Amino acid sequence: MLRLPQFGVELPSAIDEVVALLRDNPGARIVAGGTDLLPNLKHQLEQPAMLISLAQVAELRAISEVSTEVGPALEIGAGVTLTELSEDPLVREHFPSLAAAAGTVASPLIRNMGTIGGNLNLDTRCRYVNQTKFWRQAIGGGCLKSEGEVCHVVPGGRNCVAALSSDCAPVLISLDAEVVLAGPQGERVVPAAKYYKADGLRHTVREDAEITTKLRVPLASGPRRSAYAKWTVRKSIDFPLVSVALRFDLASDDVDAAVTGLKIVAGVLGAKPRIVAKLDDAIGKKLSDPALTSIVAAAVHKQCKPLENVPYEAPYRRQMFAVFTKRAIADLVAAG
Ligand SMILES: Cc1cc2nc3c(=O)[nH]c(=O)nc-3n(C[C@H](O)[C@H](O)[C@H](O)COP(=O)(O)OP(=O)(O)OC[C@H]3O[C@@H](n4cnc5c(N)ncnc54)[C@H](O)[C@@H]3O)c2cc1C
Ligand code: SF4
Repeated sequence: MLRLPQFGVELPSAIDEVVALLRDNPGARIVAGGTDLLPNLKHQLEQPAMLISLAQVAELRAISEVSTEVGPALEIGAGVTLTELSEDPLVREHFPSLAAAAGTVASPLIRNMGTIGGNLNLDTRCRYVNQTKFWRQAIGGGCLKSEGEVCHVVPGGRNCVAALSSDCAPVLISLDAEVVLAGPQGERVVPAAKYYKADGLRHTVREDAEITTKLRVPLASGPRRSAYAKWTVRKSIDFPLVSVALRFDLASDDVDAAVTGLKIVAGVLGAKPRIVAKLDDAIGKKLSDPALTSIVAAAVHKQCKPLENVPYEAPYRRQMFAVFTKRAIADLVAAG
């Protein structure tokens, strides 16, 4: 049996209390649903003296439509659970890919506990580190992300390339979401596309004394189709081994309409989701045009180069990135 280490727990009821606790207790960690943090504590990947629970911070739980300088948006509190997110009528109406991604995380029980804030701030994962300490010791005393000084994925490498396995992060980037943070200096807003860094040890720009308070996702200004494709071995419980978020803006509300803009974001490569570039040739093509699928899938295959940081061989996963991209577009076209 894996035991939790000892720690103190604080139960603030407001965001500014959370910020004050973070500021006054360096090394303290936020716990929301605990579905990522607590297993990591059991695996002795860290040993914080204090956990700051968000369980009683009611202001983190709202989903509401707001007006911003650039148009209407949906604000989603960081404490909204994945079940609530996947079932919310506004989210399902405006952001079906986000509802779908939230609804594929783990299992119903974990989605009832896990929050979108925790999903966004999910620690990076690696087949060599998300193991018991005993296991890690047995392969040479751990690695850069645990007790050791080497990387087993990139031998000789000086950086950790553990993967961000969050289902929602690529989708939020594809939807041009913003992340709202509160800290001792006040509030700041970071585009989701700039929230992550390619460093498996410290993979977000969030400062230690900051809390993610909400996400702001702009509503589409015209017709749009979006999807989330995820490959796992089992249909439930598993983290993604391949994940692709797709968004197509259309000239009219019809899959035979021309694509006026698109954003494709892949996850589970390294610590930072990859925004697929060089898709200009897809603009102007119909979503239903097989040539569009070929352009997008080829770009995904060329630019998404998985590492051996999560299970399954990297060359196979690379093929699957393209396969799941094609299937997602086919499903969008079939849905009409
Ligand atoms: C068996 C199993 C399967 C899983 N499968 C998946 C999967 O398929 N896809 C997937 O995406 N995830 C998966 N997870 C991971 C996890 O359940 C989800 O990512 C969940 O959304 C995490 O949310 P949480 O509230 O439980 O986070 P917590 O565990 O409470 O926190 C996670 C991290 O985020 C930080 N954090 C939490 N809230 C905030 C905030 N508001 N501001 C700043 N930092 C914050 C914490 O300090 C911690 O570092 C799985 C977990 C398990 C145990
Ligand atoms: S990528 Fe390397 S350093 Fe990072 S967790 Fe995996 S083995 Fe450790």
